[in-house]
Formats: sequence, structure tokens, C-alpha cells
Amino acid sequence: MEGCLFCKIIKGEIPSDKVYEDDEILAFKDIKPAAPIHILVIPKKHIDSLAQLEKQDEALIGRIYGVINKIAEEQDFLDKGYRVIVNCGKDGGQEVMHLHFHVLAGKELGGKIVG
Ligand code: AMP
Ligand code: ZN
Repeated sequence: MEGCLFCKIIKGEIPSDKVYEDDEILAFKDIKPAAPIHILVIPKKHIDSLAQLEKQDEALIGRIYGVINKIAEEQDFLDKGYRVIVNCGKDGGQEVMHLHFHVLAGKELGGKIVG
């Protein structure tokens, strides 16, 4: 989508530190890490947010979780654990309007909101 930061990263117009890529999904390091490991996993298809998810996108979201585990295994944090966060919309604190999954790992994460 025109003007979208993450679409520009997908197209290679803006550089990123890629950790995984296939035909549908891209993962790269967050530019402002909130943990020792902070990876953003995004669909290559532009979807504004979780709130804009359509029925046909549901399998893709399932695949994203599979890719997250693959990355976790490769980067050796599958066993120690990690946290996946999706900020959605204004109240959810979403700043970049291209659906993305934050994957945080590499230390015992504080700041629990739920649980
Ligand atoms: P959110 O607040 O959930 O929309 O998260 C957007 C995330 O994108 C933030 O954690 C930013 O640090 C990250 N971000 C912004 N620009 C870039 C960039 N060029 N490369 C990597 N991560 C970025
Ligand atoms: Zn986009």
C-alpha cells in the first residue's frame, strides 16, 4: 500500500535486518528493541490491523504463528519462552498501520498486563 512503512520494507525500499522471509511472510528486527530479542513478523499482504482481518486471511495468521516458532527454534529461544504482542488500533497503541506481530524474548519479560 502506498506510503506504508512496512510495505516499503517488504519492497526493499527501506532497509531492514531480516531474520525470515517466504512468499507470504517477512520477519525483521525491530529498530527500537524492547527486549534483547525483538522481532516483527508481518504478512506481505497489506492488512491495516487485526480489526481489518478477513475470513480468507485466517490461514495466513495461523502460518505466522508457525513462522514465529521456526524463528524461535533457529534463534534458540523456543524452550526458554517468548511473548507475542499485537497492538491493534488507537486504544491498542498501534502506530504502524500494517499488521505486525511483536516477538519479544531473551530475558524474563516484566510488565505483564494480563495474568
Ligand atoms: P506498533 O506500535 O505496534 O505499531 O509497533 C511499530 C513498531 O515498528 C515499533 O516497535 C517500532 O520500533 C517499529 N519500527 C518502526 N520503524 C521501523 C523500521 N524502519 N524498522 C524496524 N522496525 C521499525
Ligand atoms: Zn503495508
